[in-house]
Amino acid sequence: MNQFKTIPAATGRMLIEGQLSESLGGKWITCISPSTGADIGKVPDGTTGDVERAVSAAQSAQTNWAALSVAQRAHYLLKLADALAASTDELLAIEVASTGNSITGMKGDISSCIERLRYFAGLGYELQGNTIPESSNKLNLTLREPYGVVGRIVAFNHPLAMAVHGIASPLVAGNTVILKPSEQCPLSATLLGEIASKVLPAGVLSIVTGGAEVGNAIVRHPQVKRLSFVGSVRTGLAIQRAAAEVAVKSISLELGGKNPFIVFPDAPIEQVAKAAVLGMNFIWQGQSCSSTSRLFVHDSIYDEVVQHVTEHVRAIRIGDPFEDDTQMGAIVSQAHLASIENYVRIGQDEGARLVAGGKRPTGTGFEKGNWFEPTVFSEVRQDMRVAREEIFGPILSILRWSDTDEVIDMANSVEYGLTAAVWTSDITKAITTAKRLQSGYIWINGVNTHVRSVPFGGYKNSGTGRERGIEELYSYTEEKSIQITL
Ligand code: NAD
Repeated sequence: MNQFKTIPAATGRMLIEGQLSESLGGKWITCISPSTGADIGKVPDGTTGDVERAVSAAQSAQTNWAALSVAQRAHYLLKLADALAASTDELLAIEVASTGNSITGMKGDISSCIERLRYFAGLGYELQGNTIPESSNKLNLTLREPYGVVGRIVAFNHPLAMAVHGIASPLVAGNTVILKPSEQCPLSATLLGEIASKVLPAGVLSIVTGGAEVGNAIVRHPQVKRLSFVGSVRTGLAIQRAAAEVAVKSISLELGGKNPFIVFPDAPIEQVAKAAVLGMNFIWQGQSCSSTSRLFVHDSIYDEVVQHVTEHVRAIRIGDPFEDDTQMGAIVSQAHLASIENYVRIGQDEGARLVAGGKRPTGTGFEKGNWFEPTVFSEVRQDMRVAREEIFGPILSILRWSDTDEVIDMANSVEYGLTAAVWTSDITKAITTAKRLQSGYIWINGVNTHVRSVPFGGYKNSGTGRERGIEELYSYTEEKSIQITL
Protein backbone atom coordinates (compact mmCIF):
# COMPACT_ATOMS: atom_id res chain seq x y z
CA MET A 1 0.00 0.00 0.00
CA ASN A 2 1.21 3.46 -0.88
CA GLN A 3 1.90 5.55 2.21
CA PHE A 4 3.28 8.73 0.69
CA LYS A 5 1.17 11.87 1.03
CA THR A 6 -0.71 13.57 -1.76
CA ILE A 7 -3.30 16.34 -2.16
CA PRO A 8 -6.98 16.35 -3.13
CA ALA A 9 -7.52 16.76 -6.88
CA ALA A 10 -7.75 20.43 -7.95
CA THR A 11 -9.22 22.06 -11.05
CA GLY A 12 -7.00 24.83 -12.37
CA ARG A 13 -8.09 27.52 -14.79
CA MET A 14 -6.27 29.88 -17.12
CA LEU A 15 -6.14 33.63 -16.54
CA ILE A 16 -7.31 35.53 -19.60
CA GLU A 17 -8.81 39.06 -19.70
CA GLY A 18 -8.62 39.09 -15.91
CA GLN A 19 -11.03 36.13 -15.72
CA LEU A 20 -10.44 32.51 -14.76
CA SER A 21 -11.12 30.64 -17.94
CA GLU A 22 -11.40 27.20 -19.51
CA SER A 23 -9.94 26.31 -22.90
CA LEU A 24 -11.83 27.23 -26.08
CA GLY A 25 -11.20 23.64 -27.18
CA GLY A 26 -12.87 22.29 -24.02
CA LYS A 27 -10.03 19.84 -23.36
CA TRP A 28 -8.08 19.26 -20.14
CA ILE A 29 -4.62 18.08 -19.13
CA THR A 30 -4.58 15.57 -16.26
CA CYS A 31 -1.95 16.18 -13.58
CA ILE A 32 -0.32 13.13 -12.01
CA SER A 33 1.75 13.21 -8.83
CA PRO A 34 5.29 11.93 -9.55
CA SER A 35 5.61 10.55 -6.02
CA THR A 36 2.34 8.61 -5.74
CA GLY A 37 1.00 8.26 -9.28
CA ALA A 38 -2.27 9.78 -7.98
CA ASP A 39 -4.47 12.07 -10.05
CA ILE A 40 -3.99 15.47 -8.42
CA GLY A 41 -6.06 17.60 -10.75
CA LYS A 42 -6.49 19.03 -14.20
CA VAL A 43 -5.83 22.26 -16.09
CA PRO A 44 -7.25 23.48 -19.41
CA ASP A 45 -5.44 22.30 -22.52
CA GLY A 46 -5.20 25.71 -24.19
CA THR A 47 -5.44 26.41 -27.91
CA THR A 48 -4.14 28.94 -30.41
CA GLY A 49 -7.47 30.74 -29.95
CA ASP A 50 -6.81 31.07 -26.22
CA VAL A 51 -3.42 32.60 -26.97
CA GLU A 52 -5.11 35.03 -29.35
CA ARG A 53 -7.54 36.08 -26.59
CA ALA A 54 -4.71 36.49 -24.09
CA VAL A 55 -2.52 38.57 -26.42
CA SER A 56 -5.42 40.80 -27.36
CA ALA A 57 -6.20 41.45 -23.66
CA ALA A 58 -2.52 41.97 -22.89
CA GLN A 59 -2.19 44.48 -25.68
CA SER A 60 -5.25 46.44 -24.59
CA ALA A 61 -4.04 46.55 -21.00
CA GLN A 62 -0.46 47.49 -21.82
CA THR A 63 -0.96 51.19 -22.62
CA ASN A 64 -2.63 51.94 -19.29
CA TRP A 65 -0.18 49.73 -17.41
CA ALA A 66 2.83 51.52 -18.93
CA ALA A 67 1.20 54.89 -18.19
CA LEU A 68 1.22 54.17 -14.44
CA SER A 69 4.12 55.56 -12.44
CA VAL A 70 6.89 53.21 -11.42
CA ALA A 71 5.64 53.49 -7.84
CA GLN A 72 2.14 52.39 -8.88
CA ARG A 73 3.39 49.38 -10.82
CA ALA A 74 5.74 48.49 -7.96
CA HIS A 75 2.79 48.71 -5.58
CA TYR A 76 0.92 46.06 -7.61
CA LEU A 77 3.97 43.78 -7.52
CA LEU A 78 4.22 44.19 -3.75
CA LYS A 79 0.52 43.35 -3.40
CA LEU A 80 1.07 40.22 -5.47
CA ALA A 81 4.06 39.30 -3.28
CA ASP A 82 1.92 39.71 -0.14
CA ALA A 83 -0.90 37.65 -1.64
CA LEU A 84 1.53 34.84 -2.53
CA ALA A 85 2.99 34.99 0.98
CA ALA A 86 -0.52 34.61 2.40
CA SER A 87 -1.05 31.50 0.23
CA THR A 88 2.33 29.89 0.96
CA ASP A 89 0.96 26.68 2.45
CA GLU A 90 -1.43 26.02 -0.43
CA LEU A 91 1.21 26.84 -3.06
CA LEU A 92 3.75 24.65 -1.32
CA ALA A 93 1.41 21.65 -1.16
CA ILE A 94 0.56 21.90 -4.86
CA GLU A 95 4.19 22.40 -5.83
CA VAL A 96 5.47 19.43 -3.82
CA ALA A 97 2.68 17.13 -5.02
CA SER A 98 3.04 18.06 -8.66
CA THR A 99 6.84 18.14 -8.97
CA GLY A 100 7.83 15.33 -6.60
CA ASN A 101 10.52 17.69 -5.25
CA SER A 102 11.15 17.61 -1.51
CA ILE A 103 9.33 20.15 0.65
CA THR A 104 12.53 21.54 2.15
CA GLY A 105 13.76 22.68 -1.24
CA MET A 106 10.37 23.91 -2.39
CA LYS A 107 10.01 26.19 0.65
CA GLY A 108 12.98 28.07 -0.78
CA ASP A 109 11.23 28.30 -4.15
CA ILE A 110 8.13 29.93 -2.67
CA SER A 111 10.10 32.43 -0.61
CA SER A 112 12.26 33.29 -3.62
CA CYS A 113 9.09 34.13 -5.61
CA ILE A 114 8.03 36.61 -2.94
CA GLU A 115 11.51 38.05 -2.64
CA ARG A 116 11.93 38.38 -6.43
CA LEU A 117 8.71 40.41 -6.75
CA ARG A 118 9.79 42.70 -3.93
CA TYR A 119 13.31 43.04 -5.33
CA PHE A 120 12.18 44.09 -8.81
CA ALA A 121 9.49 46.37 -7.35
CA GLY A 122 12.30 48.20 -5.57
CA LEU A 123 14.54 48.19 -8.64
CA GLY A 124 11.94 49.95 -10.81
CA TYR A 125 13.41 53.40 -10.22
CA GLU A 126 16.71 52.21 -11.69
CA LEU A 127 15.15 52.10 -15.17
CA GLN A 128 17.12 55.18 -16.07
CA GLY A 129 18.55 56.48 -19.32
CA ASN A 130 21.72 58.43 -20.02
CA THR A 131 22.60 61.95 -21.05
CA ILE A 132 25.42 62.05 -23.54
CA PRO A 133 27.02 65.44 -24.30
CA GLU A 134 28.36 65.78 -27.81
CA SER A 135 28.90 69.46 -28.55
CA SER A 136 27.91 72.78 -27.04
CA ASN A 137 24.65 72.91 -29.00
CA LYS A 138 23.64 69.23 -28.87
CA LEU A 139 22.35 67.12 -26.02
CA ASN A 140 21.65 63.40 -26.42
CA LEU A 141 19.53 61.47 -24.02
CA THR A 142 18.18 57.94 -23.83
CA LEU A 143 14.87 56.58 -22.54
CA ARG A 144 14.03 52.99 -21.64
CA GLU A 145 10.63 51.92 -22.94
CA PRO A 146 8.77 48.61 -22.52
CA TYR A 147 8.48 46.24 -25.50
CA GLY A 148 4.73 45.83 -25.07
CA VAL A 149 3.59 42.22 -24.70
CA VAL A 150 6.16 39.72 -23.39
CA GLY A 151 5.83 35.93 -23.80
CA ARG A 152 7.29 33.80 -21.02
CA ILE A 153 7.50 30.01 -21.53
CA VAL A 154 9.00 27.84 -18.79
CA ALA A 155 10.24 24.35 -17.91
CA PHE A 156 8.85 21.85 -15.41
CA ASN A 157 11.41 21.68 -12.63
CA HIS A 158 10.64 24.85 -10.63
CA PRO A 159 7.17 25.66 -11.97
CA LEU A 160 6.14 28.52 -9.70
CA ALA A 161 9.61 30.00 -9.22
CA MET A 162 10.26 30.14 -12.95
CA ALA A 163 6.82 31.61 -13.55
CA VAL A 164 7.08 34.36 -10.93
CA HIS A 165 10.77 35.09 -11.51
CA GLY A 166 9.95 35.70 -15.15
CA ILE A 167 7.07 38.12 -14.67
CA ALA A 168 8.48 40.50 -12.05
CA SER A 169 10.94 42.47 -14.17
CA PRO A 170 8.89 42.77 -17.39
CA LEU A 171 5.88 43.95 -15.40
CA VAL A 172 7.73 46.62 -13.44
CA ALA A 173 9.25 47.82 -16.73
CA GLY A 174 5.74 48.46 -18.09
CA ASN A 175 5.16 45.35 -20.21
CA THR A 176 2.23 43.01 -19.93
CA VAL A 177 3.00 39.28 -19.85
CA ILE A 178 1.61 36.02 -21.27
CA LEU A 179 2.91 33.10 -19.20
CA LYS A 180 2.90 29.47 -20.28
CA PRO A 181 3.86 26.93 -17.62
CA SER A 182 5.07 23.45 -18.48
CA GLU A 183 2.28 20.98 -19.21
CA GLN A 184 4.09 18.57 -16.85
CA CYS A 185 3.53 20.65 -13.67
CA PRO A 186 1.03 23.41 -14.44
CA LEU A 187 -1.12 23.43 -11.29
CA SER A 188 0.78 26.04 -9.27
CA ALA A 189 0.66 28.49 -12.19
CA THR A 190 -3.13 28.23 -12.23
CA LEU A 191 -3.20 29.03 -8.51
CA LEU A 192 -0.89 31.97 -9.26
CA GLY A 193 -3.49 33.06 -11.83
CA GLU A 194 -6.27 32.83 -9.28
CA ILE A 195 -4.29 34.97 -6.83
CA ALA A 196 -3.19 37.46 -9.50
CA SER A 197 -6.78 37.88 -10.75
CA LYS A 198 -7.62 39.49 -7.38
CA VAL A 199 -4.58 41.76 -7.36
CA LEU A 200 -3.54 42.86 -10.86
CA PRO A 201 -5.58 44.88 -13.40
CA ALA A 202 -7.21 42.70 -16.09
CA GLY A 203 -4.89 41.71 -18.94
CA VAL A 204 -1.63 42.70 -17.21
CA LEU A 205 -0.81 39.03 -16.59
CA SER A 206 -2.31 36.20 -18.63
CA ILE A 207 -1.64 32.53 -17.96
CA VAL A 208 -2.33 30.06 -20.75
CA THR A 209 -1.84 26.38 -19.93
CA GLY A 210 -1.14 23.75 -22.55
CA GLY A 211 1.65 22.09 -24.47
CA ALA A 212 3.94 22.91 -27.38
CA GLU A 213 1.03 24.19 -29.51
CA VAL A 214 0.33 26.98 -27.00
CA GLY A 215 4.04 27.80 -26.70
CA ASN A 216 4.40 27.92 -30.47
CA ALA A 217 1.38 30.22 -30.81
CA ILE A 218 2.91 32.66 -28.30
CA VAL A 219 6.27 32.53 -30.08
CA ARG A 220 4.69 33.16 -33.50
CA HIS A 221 2.28 35.85 -32.41
CA PRO A 222 3.25 39.05 -34.24
CA GLN A 223 2.27 41.23 -31.26
CA VAL A 224 4.66 39.41 -28.91
CA LYS A 225 7.95 41.11 -29.62
CA ARG A 226 9.93 39.93 -26.58
CA LEU A 227 10.19 36.27 -25.58
CA SER A 228 11.86 34.72 -22.58
CA PHE A 229 12.25 30.96 -22.43
CA VAL A 230 13.48 28.40 -19.91
CA GLY A 231 13.82 24.84 -21.17
CA SER A 232 15.83 22.48 -23.35
CA VAL A 233 18.26 23.38 -26.11
CA ARG A 234 16.05 21.58 -28.63
CA THR A 235 13.02 23.74 -27.81
CA GLY A 236 15.16 26.88 -27.55
CA LEU A 237 16.40 26.36 -31.10
CA ALA A 238 12.85 25.63 -32.32
CA ILE A 239 11.70 28.90 -30.74
CA GLN A 240 14.45 30.90 -32.43
CA ARG A 241 13.56 29.33 -35.80
CA ALA A 242 9.80 29.83 -35.40
CA ALA A 243 10.12 33.43 -34.21
CA ALA A 244 12.41 34.27 -37.12
CA GLU A 245 9.73 33.18 -39.58
CA VAL A 246 7.42 35.88 -38.23
CA ALA A 247 9.41 38.93 -37.20
CA VAL A 248 12.59 40.16 -35.57
CA LYS A 249 12.09 39.36 -31.89
CA SER A 250 14.17 39.83 -28.77
CA ILE A 251 14.61 36.38 -27.22
CA SER A 252 16.39 35.32 -24.06
CA LEU A 253 17.04 31.62 -23.60
CA GLU A 254 17.92 29.81 -20.35
CA LEU A 255 18.73 26.29 -21.53
CA GLY A 256 20.42 23.11 -20.41
CA GLY A 257 23.74 22.31 -18.78
CA LYS A 258 26.33 19.55 -18.37
CA ASN A 259 28.36 21.45 -15.87
CA PRO A 260 31.95 20.69 -14.83
CA PHE A 261 33.24 20.64 -11.23
CA ILE A 262 37.06 20.63 -11.31
CA VAL A 263 39.01 19.43 -8.28
CA PHE A 264 42.72 20.26 -8.03
CA PRO A 265 45.02 18.06 -5.90
CA ASP A 266 45.30 20.63 -3.10
CA ALA A 267 41.52 20.80 -2.47
CA PRO A 268 40.15 19.57 0.90
CA ILE A 269 38.74 16.11 0.14
CA GLU A 270 35.86 15.94 2.60
CA GLN A 271 34.61 19.44 1.72
CA VAL A 272 34.89 18.62 -1.98
CA ALA A 273 32.87 15.44 -1.53
CA LYS A 274 30.09 17.30 0.28
CA ALA A 275 30.07 20.09 -2.31
CA ALA A 276 30.02 17.62 -5.21
CA VAL A 277 26.89 15.98 -3.77
CA LEU A 278 25.27 19.35 -3.08
CA GLY A 279 26.12 20.52 -6.60
CA MET A 280 24.21 17.61 -8.09
CA ASN A 281 20.95 19.01 -6.69
CA PHE A 282 19.71 15.60 -5.58
CA ILE A 283 17.11 17.61 -3.66
CA TRP A 284 15.44 18.08 -7.09
CA GLN A 285 16.45 14.56 -8.19
CA GLY A 286 19.23 16.18 -10.21
CA GLN A 287 16.60 17.90 -12.36
CA SER A 288 18.37 21.23 -12.38
CA CYS A 289 20.10 23.06 -15.24
CA SER A 290 22.92 24.14 -12.94
CA SER A 291 23.76 20.69 -11.53
CA THR A 292 27.51 20.05 -11.64
CA SER A 293 27.07 16.57 -13.13
CA ARG A 294 30.65 16.11 -14.36
CA LEU A 295 33.08 15.84 -11.45
CA PHE A 296 36.69 16.08 -12.70
CA VAL A 297 39.04 14.86 -9.93
CA HIS A 298 42.83 14.97 -10.08
CA ASP A 299 44.40 11.54 -10.39
CA SER A 300 46.33 11.91 -7.09
CA ILE A 301 43.16 12.13 -4.95
CA TYR A 302 40.70 10.41 -7.30
CA ASP A 303 40.05 7.18 -5.38
CA GLU A 304 39.64 8.97 -2.07
CA VAL A 305 37.17 11.51 -3.48
CA VAL A 306 35.15 8.77 -5.20
CA GLN A 307 34.93 6.88 -1.92
CA HIS A 308 33.76 9.94 0.06
CA VAL A 309 31.27 11.02 -2.61
CA THR A 310 29.84 7.51 -2.83
CA GLU A 311 29.37 7.33 0.94
CA HIS A 312 27.51 10.65 0.98
CA VAL A 313 25.31 9.69 -1.97
CA ARG A 314 24.37 6.34 -0.43
CA ALA A 315 23.31 8.19 2.73
CA ILE A 316 20.80 10.44 0.91
CA ARG A 317 17.32 9.98 2.36
CA ILE A 318 14.95 9.32 -0.53
CA GLY A 319 11.24 9.21 0.18
CA ASP A 320 8.02 11.11 0.78
CA PRO A 321 8.58 14.64 -0.57
CA PHE A 322 6.21 16.00 2.07
CA GLU A 323 8.53 14.93 4.92
CA ASP A 324 10.92 17.61 6.21
CA ASP A 325 13.89 15.26 6.45
CA THR A 326 13.55 13.91 2.90
CA GLN A 327 16.59 14.76 0.79
CA MET A 328 15.40 13.42 -2.55
CA GLY A 329 11.93 12.93 -4.05
CA ALA A 330 10.54 11.47 -7.28
CA ILE A 331 11.29 11.95 -10.98
CA VAL A 332 8.81 14.18 -12.81
CA SER A 333 7.31 11.59 -15.19
CA GLN A 334 7.46 7.96 -16.20
CA ALA A 335 8.95 8.96 -19.56
CA HIS A 336 11.72 10.92 -17.87
CA LEU A 337 12.38 8.03 -15.47
CA ALA A 338 12.73 5.69 -18.47
CA SER A 339 15.22 8.09 -20.06
CA ILE A 340 17.29 8.18 -16.83
CA GLU A 341 17.28 4.37 -16.61
CA ASN A 342 18.42 4.24 -20.20
CA TYR A 343 21.40 6.46 -19.38
CA VAL A 344 22.44 3.99 -16.67
CA ARG A 345 22.45 1.23 -19.30
CA ILE A 346 24.39 3.47 -21.70
CA GLY A 347 27.00 4.28 -19.02
CA GLN A 348 27.50 0.62 -18.17
CA ASP A 349 27.73 -0.37 -21.85
CA GLU A 350 30.34 2.35 -22.37
CA GLY A 351 32.48 0.94 -19.55
CA ALA A 352 31.79 3.40 -16.71
CA ARG A 353 31.76 1.85 -13.22
CA LEU A 354 28.48 2.06 -11.30
CA VAL A 355 29.45 2.79 -7.67
CA ALA A 356 26.11 3.96 -6.20
CA GLY A 357 22.42 3.64 -7.07
CA GLY A 358 21.51 2.81 -10.66
CA LYS A 359 18.07 1.35 -9.98
CA ARG A 360 14.60 2.04 -8.62
CA PRO A 361 14.38 1.88 -4.80
CA THR A 362 12.22 -0.79 -3.18
CA GLY A 363 10.09 -0.74 -0.06
CA THR A 364 6.92 0.78 1.25
CA GLY A 365 5.82 3.87 -0.64
CA PHE A 366 7.98 3.22 -3.69
CA GLU A 367 5.50 0.83 -5.35
CA LYS A 368 3.88 3.71 -7.22
CA GLY A 369 5.36 6.89 -8.63
CA ASN A 370 8.61 7.51 -10.48
CA TRP A 371 11.46 6.65 -8.16
CA PHE A 372 15.16 6.30 -8.84
CA GLU A 373 18.15 6.03 -6.53
CA PRO A 374 20.84 8.72 -6.48
CA THR A 375 23.48 7.33 -8.79
CA VAL A 376 27.23 7.69 -9.28
CA PHE A 377 29.47 6.48 -12.09
CA SER A 378 33.25 6.48 -11.64
CA GLU A 379 35.94 5.91 -14.30
CA VAL A 380 33.91 7.97 -16.75
CA ARG A 381 35.73 9.26 -19.84
CA GLN A 382 34.82 12.51 -21.55
CA ASP A 383 33.99 10.70 -24.82
CA MET A 384 31.16 8.73 -23.12
CA ARG A 385 27.57 9.86 -23.59
CA VAL A 386 27.03 10.03 -19.81
CA ALA A 387 29.75 12.72 -19.77
CA ARG A 388 28.51 14.65 -22.80
CA GLU A 389 24.71 14.68 -22.71
CA GLU A 390 22.40 16.42 -20.26
CA ILE A 391 20.63 13.62 -18.35
CA PHE A 392 18.68 16.04 -16.13
CA GLY A 393 18.44 13.37 -13.48
CA PRO A 394 20.23 12.03 -10.38
CA ILE A 395 23.35 10.68 -12.12
CA LEU A 396 26.81 12.02 -11.27
CA SER A 397 29.75 11.12 -13.54
CA ILE A 398 33.24 11.23 -12.00
CA LEU A 399 36.16 11.68 -14.39
CA ARG A 400 39.93 11.49 -13.81
CA TRP A 401 42.49 14.09 -14.92
CA SER A 402 46.20 14.82 -14.53
CA ASP A 403 46.99 17.82 -16.77
CA THR A 404 45.42 21.27 -16.30
CA ASP A 405 45.17 22.13 -20.01
CA GLU A 406 43.58 18.76 -20.67
CA VAL A 407 40.92 19.11 -17.94
CA ILE A 408 39.96 22.58 -19.15
CA ASP A 409 39.69 21.25 -22.72
CA MET A 410 37.48 18.38 -21.49
CA ALA A 411 35.32 20.75 -19.45
CA ASN A 412 34.83 22.99 -22.51
CA SER A 413 34.31 20.14 -24.97
CA VAL A 414 30.50 19.88 -24.66
CA GLU A 415 27.83 22.02 -26.32
CA TYR A 416 26.77 23.46 -22.94
CA GLY A 417 28.29 26.25 -20.84
CA LEU A 418 26.02 27.17 -17.95
CA THR A 419 27.72 26.73 -14.56
CA ALA A 420 31.06 25.37 -13.32
CA ALA A 421 32.93 24.90 -10.04
CA VAL A 422 36.68 25.05 -9.41
CA TRP A 423 38.22 23.84 -6.15
CA THR A 424 41.80 24.70 -5.17
CA SER A 425 43.52 26.71 -2.43
CA ASP A 426 45.71 28.43 -5.06
CA ILE A 427 43.71 31.57 -5.93
CA THR A 428 45.76 32.35 -9.05
CA LYS A 429 45.13 28.87 -10.41
CA ALA A 430 41.45 29.17 -9.51
CA ILE A 431 40.94 32.47 -11.32
CA THR A 432 43.06 31.47 -14.32
CA THR A 433 40.97 28.30 -14.68
CA ALA A 434 37.67 30.20 -14.24
CA LYS A 435 38.70 32.65 -16.96
CA ARG A 436 39.40 29.78 -19.37
CA LEU A 437 36.11 27.96 -18.72
CA GLN A 438 33.34 28.63 -21.23
CA SER A 439 30.59 28.91 -18.61
CA GLY A 440 28.33 31.75 -17.58
CA TYR A 441 28.33 31.22 -13.79
CA ILE A 442 31.35 29.87 -11.92
CA TRP A 443 31.90 29.02 -8.26
CA ILE A 444 35.42 29.00 -6.81
CA ASN A 445 35.57 26.78 -3.72
CA GLY A 446 31.79 26.76 -3.60
CA VAL A 447 28.82 25.39 -5.43
CA ASN A 448 25.13 25.89 -5.90
CA THR A 449 24.61 29.24 -4.17
CA HIS A 450 22.84 31.96 -6.11
CA VAL A 451 22.73 35.64 -5.30
CA ARG A 452 19.75 37.72 -6.32
CA SER A 453 21.56 40.45 -8.23
CA VAL A 454 24.34 38.39 -9.82
CA PRO A 455 23.69 37.78 -13.55
CA PHE A 456 22.87 34.18 -14.46
CA GLY A 457 22.91 32.71 -17.95
CA GLY A 458 24.70 30.43 -20.33
CA TYR A 459 27.58 30.41 -22.81
CA LYS A 460 27.31 28.37 -26.02
CA ASN A 461 24.11 26.30 -26.31
CA SER A 462 23.20 26.90 -22.66
CA GLY A 463 21.53 30.09 -23.73
CA THR A 464 21.65 33.74 -24.44
CA GLY A 465 20.88 36.71 -22.22
CA ARG A 466 21.34 37.15 -18.48
CA GLU A 467 18.67 36.99 -15.79
CA ARG A 468 18.54 38.50 -12.28
CA GLY A 469 19.71 41.97 -11.37
CA ILE A 470 19.57 45.20 -13.29
CA GLU A 471 20.58 43.64 -16.65
CA GLU A 472 17.43 41.52 -16.58
CA LEU A 473 15.30 44.60 -15.95
CA TYR A 474 16.98 46.48 -18.81
CA SER A 475 16.43 43.50 -21.10
CA TYR A 476 12.68 44.09 -20.96
CA THR A 477 13.09 47.58 -22.36
CA GLU A 478 14.12 49.08 -25.66
CA GLU A 479 16.49 52.02 -25.45
CA LYS A 480 15.44 55.08 -27.41
CA SER A 481 17.95 57.85 -28.17
CA ILE A 482 16.79 61.45 -28.56
CA GLN A 483 19.07 64.18 -29.84
CA ILE A 484 18.22 67.75 -28.86
CA THR A 485 19.69 70.69 -30.74
CA LEU A 486 19.90 73.62 -28.36
P1 NAD B 1 11.22 21.61 -22.71
O1 NAD B 1 12.11 22.37 -23.63
O2 NAD B 1 10.78 20.26 -23.11
O3 NAD B 1 9.89 22.44 -22.39
C1 NAD B 1 9.95 23.74 -21.86
C2 NAD B 1 8.69 24.50 -22.23
O4 NAD B 1 8.66 24.71 -23.64
C3 NAD B 1 7.39 23.81 -21.87
O5 NAD B 1 6.50 24.77 -21.33
C4 NAD B 1 6.90 23.29 -23.21
O6 NAD B 1 5.51 23.13 -23.30
C5 NAD B 1 7.37 24.39 -24.15
N1 NAD B 1 7.51 24.00 -25.55
C6 NAD B 1 7.77 22.78 -26.07
N2 NAD B 1 7.88 22.85 -27.41
C7 NAD B 1 7.68 24.15 -27.76
C8 NAD B 1 7.67 24.86 -28.99
N3 NAD B 1 7.90 24.25 -30.14
N4 NAD B 1 7.46 26.19 -28.97
C9 NAD B 1 7.26 26.84 -27.80
N5 NAD B 1 7.23 26.22 -26.59
C10 NAD B 1 7.45 24.89 -26.57
O7 NAD B 1 12.02 21.54 -21.31
P2 NAD B 1 11.62 20.77 -19.98
O8 NAD B 1 11.76 19.30 -20.19
O9 NAD B 1 10.37 21.31 -19.42
O10 NAD B 1 12.78 21.26 -18.99
C11 NAD B 1 14.05 20.69 -18.92
C12 NAD B 1 15.07 21.55 -19.63
O11 NAD B 1 15.03 22.90 -19.13
C13 NAD B 1 16.49 21.06 -19.35
O12 NAD B 1 17.23 21.09 -20.55
C14 NAD B 1 17.01 22.09 -18.36
O13 NAD B 1 18.42 22.20 -18.33
C15 NAD B 1 16.34 23.33 -18.82
N6 NAD B 1 16.32 24.35 -17.75
C16 NAD B 1 17.15 25.43 -17.86
C17 NAD B 1 17.19 26.39 -16.84
C18 NAD B 1 18.12 27.58 -16.92
O14 NAD B 1 17.93 28.52 -16.15
N7 NAD B 1 19.11 27.58 -17.80
C19 NAD B 1 16.36 26.23 -15.72
C20 NAD B 1 15.53 25.11 -15.65
C21 NAD B 1 15.52 24.18 -16.67
